[in-house]
Amino acid sequence: MTIQHSISLKAYNSFGIDATAEYFTELKHLDTLQEIAADEKLPKLKVVLGGGSNVLLTKPVAGLVIHNSLNGITIKDENENHVWVEVMAGEVWHGFVEYALTNNLSGIENLALIPGRVGAAPMQNIGAYGVEVRDTIDQVTAWHWAEKRFIVMRNEDCDFGYRESIFKHFLKDKVLITSVTFRLNKKPNLHLEYGAIQTQLEAMGVSSPTIKSVAEAVMSIRRSKLPDPALIGNAGSFFKNPTINKQQFDLLKEQFPNIPSYPVASDQVKVPAGWLIEQSGWKGFRRHDAGVHVKQALVLVNYGKASGSEIQNLAIEIIESVQSKFDILLSMEVNIW
Ligand SMILES: Cc1cc2nc3c(=O)[nH]c(=O)nc-3n(C[C@H](O)[C@H](O)[C@H](O)COP(=O)(O)OP(=O)(O)OC[C@H]3O[C@@H](n4cnc5c(N)ncnc54)[C@H](O)[C@@H]3O)c2cc1C
Repeated sequence: MTIQHSISLKAYNSFGIDATAEYFTELKHLDTLQEIAADEKLPKLKVVLGGGSNVLLTKPVAGLVIHNSLNGITIKDENENHVWVEVMAGEVWHGFVEYALTNNLSGIENLALIPGRVGAAPMQNIGAYGVEVRDTIDQVTAWHWAEKRFIVMRNEDCDFGYRESIFKHFLKDKVLITSVTFRLNKKPNLHLEYGAIQTQLEAMGVSSPTIKSVAEAVMSIRRSKLPDPALIGNAGSFFKNPTINKQQFDLLKEQFPNIPSYPVASDQVKVPAGWLIEQSGWKGFRRHDAGVHVKQALVLVNYGKASGSEIQNLAIEIIESVQSKFDILLSMEVNIW
């Protein structure tokens, strides 16, 4: 294992924030975890970084940053309908989506082009275009720092919710996910409910969709809607879409007749955070190099040299302003470091 000192994480996070890690190492082999755990000279705080596409670095990291580069994809089992595939946590997420498409395995085609690594996918139960990754996860294997052993968590142990899981809360910084086993379908099980997918498939002239054409439609929508972190620093949606009760929504609807919503339960609705932020006047806002994207108010951006705290302060101002206008408390989707 090679440990580096005081290295810049600028190239390791999609916001392009220039913060330093006190200690840094690349994790390429599972055995290295034992070595790291046994080395008492290393700091207690050990944090994992995958693709860095869902973190905001607000200060230097006073600990060991472990950059996950564990690679490998293995078929573990199969039956008439399903294939169980174990994917090491450092594999690039979209690379795994391409693997599934090549092998005609369905389940994650709507999640094409989400940045990041496989190990972070269970962390916030990644989701897009009507699909969440929890529907395909069979089990998650992780290294437990305090217990110095690997643990296996079945899907039902992971407390998956909307952009939530046990790894984001109870097990935060206590475990390092080493692999995820997915159960993919041999027969396509397409999710086309999302209006934009239908429209895009029609525009592509596709009348009998396949997993490949659905993935292509999703990629095309994503490229047209979301800013590319290679061109402008961002971490995708900065806030979660809030859920409010129907009573509050009905009152808001009297005041704001155009307020959009999606039903989540008989007495609860989800309101798009992007709409709330736009209506509060933030779309396209810029202060120095920290801003709100001109086309997508849900995305905060770094135009070049913004610090993590400038972006965090902007996020706090947005939360306060949405709360005072709509009495809705937004919460951040991005992990603040
Ligand atoms: C342009 C853009 C579009 C996006 N679109 C979507 C979208 O449609 N849907 C969606 O859900 N997300 C989206 N995201 C967010 C992001 O891509 C996902 O959250 C992704 O899973 C993050 O992966 P990562 O490897 O970059 O995680 P990182 O940013 O490296 O890490 C995120 C958090 O997970 C922890 N973590 C990472 N790996 C591990 C591990 N192996 N074990 C334990 N903890 C770990 C980290 O410590 C950190 O707290 C988008 C981001 C961008 C930039």
